[in-house]
Amino acid sequence: MINENFLKLSNNYLFSDIARKVRAYKEQNPDMRVISLGIGDVTQPLPQACIKAMHDAVDEMASAATFRGYGPEQGYEFLRQAIVDNDLRPRGIGIEADEIFISDGAKSDCGNICDILGLDCTLGLTDPVYPVYVDSNVMCGRAGTMTDKGWSRITYFPVSRENGFVPQRPDKHIDIIYLCYPNNPTGTVITTQQLAEWVEYARREGSIILYDAAYEAYIRHEEIPHSIYEIDGAQEVAIEFHSYSKTAGFTGVRCGYTIVPKALCFTASDGKTSVSLHSLWNRRQCTKFNGTSYITQRAAEAIYTAEGKEQVRNTIDYYMDNAAYMHAHLSALGYEVYGGTDAPYIWLRTPHGIGSWGFFERLLHELSLVTTPGVGFGPSGEGYVRLTAFGNHEDCREAMERFARL
Ligand code: PLP
Repeated sequence: MINENFLKLSNNYLFSDIARKVRAYKEQNPDMRVISLGIGDVTQPLPQACIKAMHDAVDEMASAATFRGYGPEQGYEFLRQAIVDNDLRPRGIGIEADEIFISDGAKSDCGNICDILGLDCTLGLTDPVYPVYVDSNVMCGRAGTMTDKGWSRITYFPVSRENGFVPQRPDKHIDIIYLCYPNNPTGTVITTQQLAEWVEYARREGSIILYDAAYEAYIRHEEIPHSIYEIDGAQEVAIEFHSYSKTAGFTGVRCGYTIVPKALCFTASDGKTSVSLHSLWNRRQCTKFNGTSYITQRAAEAIYTAEGKEQVRNTIDYYMDNAAYMHAHLSALGYEVYGGTDAPYIWLRTPHGIGSWGFFERLLHELSLVTTPGVGFGPSGEGYVRLTAFGNHEDCREAMERFARL
């Protein structure tokens, strides 16, 4: 027998469809230089501080006296403490080092967290959405069956210009809620007050919020929360995922962390036993994960040194310069532009009611520009395309000049 839940997965052809269309266009137009604003990967190299730390760690591996084999499944103390000292304490967050689990990136943990939650739980997530949340729940059978309104056990919170991209809290009970801010794909953010309302909902309903903060390092505005734990009471209802991928160019190195507070406890089905999700996650990790490599964790630690911080800031500034340029340029051309102020993504409303794919085709065929059709992230993404700021300055500027010709 196989896990037939996998057969329920809809094939997500979004990026392969884009690649096929771009390939065909290039074959027909070999002289045109295609610029991609669809790229979801970073392009700038790792901070020098991380490179040096990795070289040093490799040297340690070369001698029996300093060699490291299996590390702690939860991550090395030096990195967990650096996270507390730099990411959490300065924001007044009272999470301890042993509530942090170092991972090989946020994607794995966003999916793996399914292991410790009941299969009968109901789910809520935004539309459009990062597809990993949906598909990993389909795989374990929690999403129900596909209907013409989406998965039967998922409640969708549509986000669009009509509601200012703020998901509305449901008027019914939902067990598991995924929130991602700054958001992929829309590039929009949530205010402390709006997030506090979700925390209040979860506390009232006995729900859990799975908060994906993968793009936290891109937040520019003081008032935007970097972590759900900036909200009082969130430690009792939320798990938070972090990633060094977009923060410090670790998409290929692979490192992130997940916070599971010790205060996060739910009652077992006997109605009496209080169960700590921290201990369940710890048990899960010790059984199925043997830790992120020592060399990688040393590289991540270097992000928190003075030079590391400066280098990371420079790279993020580089991408955010692209985002600001695109935002200003497209707005001046009369486009409706969302996101891009605290996130590396711009969510562009297509003009004249053209569909996402229709506008994608026009940009490709008339301007040799590649974007990502918003509808690929969910039905409410129809009428938008996503642009990313991860390219280089020259391409970004040329892409904007081409837009002016449309
Ligand atoms: N969460 C969101 C919202 C993302 O967009 C991504 C990557 O694109 C991830 C998580 C995955 O990050 P990582 O590279 O750490 O696995």
